[in-house]
Amino acid sequence: MRFAKPGKLPVIGFLFVLAASVLLGSCSHPGQSTLAITHVTLIDATGSAPQPEMTVIIADHRIASVGPAKMTTIPHDAQIFDATGKFLIPGLADMHLHLTGSNEPAGSREFILPLLIANGITTVRDMGGYLESLIPLRHDIEGGKRAGPQIFFAGPYLDGSPPSFQPSLVVTNSVEASEDVHQLVARGVDFIKVQSVLSRDAYFAIAQACRQEHITFVGHVPDAVTAAEASDAGQKSIEHLTGVLRACAKDEPHLMREQIRNSRRKETPAQARARELTVERELLQTYSGQKAAELNGKLVRNQTWQVPTLILLRNVAYPTPETDSVTKDPRTKYVPRSLLQKWLGSLMGTTKIGQREVLNAALLQKSIEVVGLMHSSGVRIMAGTDTGAPYIFPGSALHDELALLVQAGLTPMQALQAATKSPADFLGKTKTQGTVEQGKFADLLLLDADPLGDIHNTKKIRAVILRGKLLDRNELDALLAVEEKFAGSN
Ligand SMILES: [Zn+2]
Repeated sequence: MRFAKPGKLPVIGFLFVLAASVLLGSCSHPGQSTLAITHVTLIDATGSAPQPEMTVIIADHRIASVGPAKMTTIPHDAQIFDATGKFLIPGLADMHLHLTGSNEPAGSREFILPLLIANGITTVRDMGGYLESLIPLRHDIEGGKRAGPQIFFAGPYLDGSPPSFQPSLVVTNSVEASEDVHQLVARGVDFIKVQSVLSRDAYFAIAQACRQEHITFVGHVPDAVTAAEASDAGQKSIEHLTGVLRACAKDEPHLMREQIRNSRRKETPAQARARELTVERELLQTYSGQKAAELNGKLVRNQTWQVPTLILLRNVAYPTPETDSVTKDPRTKYVPRSLLQKWLGSLMGTTKIGQREVLNAALLQKSIEVVGLMHSSGVRIMAGTDTGAPYIFPGSALHDELALLVQAGLTPMQALQAATKSPADFLGKTKTQGTVEQGKFADLLLLDADPLGDIHNTKKIRAVILRGKLLDRNELDALLAVEEKFAGSN
C-alpha cells in the first residue's frame, strides 16, 4: 500500500491533505476493507511467547483471524502488508491523561490527538476534563468523523475547596456528593475522579454515592484519607502513588496530621516549602518495609489498582537537573508555543532544584522501588502518563513510562501488559481489546524491533492500525509534520 506521488502539490500541502484525511477518519484507500499483516512475529500480550511467521487478517475494524502464515488463506481482495522482520503488539492504552488540559478546543484535537495516534495510543482514560469538549470528541471518533483513540472519561474532578484544578465540582457534604455523582452519571461519565483536597466526610460520602449509583471511583488519595482507607472504601485505582509513601512510613498518623494542620494554617511560600521538605525527609527516613508489605496485602485483597505515572514523578514532581533537561528535549517542537511558555513558567528552575536535588532523586528512586515491590506482591499496575501536565509529551510519554516500569522490575512483557491487557481487564473490556486475538478490535502496533528484547523498541513504530485502518510510517510522519506546523504557529 503506497500513496500516489504528490505530483506538483507543495510538500506541506500534500502532507496537510494526507494528515487531514487521517485525522478526519476518511478512508484514503477506497475499496480496501480487508487487511493482511503477513509473516509477522506476534506478541499477543496474553503472556504467551512471541510467535514468528504469523498472519493476521483484519476486516470490518476487527481481527478476523490470527494464524501461522503458512496455513492462512489471504482473501483475494486484501491489502497485504508484508511484515517480515517486524513485531505486532496490541495498540497501547494511556490510563491517565487529560485530553482537554491544553487550551480547548484545539488543544485536544490539533495537539494531543495526532501525537497519540502517531505513537500508537489507541485507548485512553481521561482523568479529569471538560465534558463539553470530551463528549463531542468521543462522539466524532465513535462515528468515524475523526480518527482517534477510544476514550473513557471522568469529566470534572470532585474536590474540596479551593479545588486543585479546573474543571472541578466542590464537594463538602453528603448532599453535594450524591447530587454531583448522580449528575455526572446522568451525563455519561465512565467513572468518578476524586482529588487531594476532599475532606474525609466528603470523600466517604462520594464513595457511598458511587456504590449507590454503581459507578467506580478513581483518583488521588486525598491528604486527609489514608491509602488503606481509600482501598477499603472501594477506590478502584490510585494515581501517582498518592498516599502510598506516607502509608509506608513508621508514623503515618503523625505525617497526616502535619499535612492537614499545616495546610489550614496561613503560611508563606518559604514556610510551605520548608514544611514540605520536612515531611518528605520523614517519608524517606522512616520508610518501613513491613508497612509497605501490609499496604500491598490490602491493595491485593481489595483489588485496588495502581497507576504510578512514574514519568510525571520523574519530570514534574521530583525533577533533578538531569531530568530538567526536558526543556531541551527535541519533542518540544510538537508543543504549541503558547503552551510551552506556560510549561516553562511551571518549571521549578535549576536554583530551586539545586536545594532539592538529592531529595528529589531519592524520592523518585524510592517510588520506583515501591512500584517494583507492589508488582512482585501482586498489586495490579497500569501505565499512565498524566499527559496534559507540563513536560509530559503526549503519546511518547507512555513509551517512557513503559521503560520506567521495566526499571521498576516488570519484565518487558509485563510492562506491555500494563498498557494493553491490564487496562482491558480494568475497564471490563477483555472481549474487545487488550490482546491480539480473533474477534477483538483491530487496534494494533507494528514495530521494527523486538520490544521484549528492549522495551525502548516500542518507539520504533513502523505502522499503527487504528480500528482496522492502516497508517504506515509515511502517514504517521505526515501527521507529525502537520502537528509540528500547528505547534509552531499557536
Ligand atoms: Zn492527572
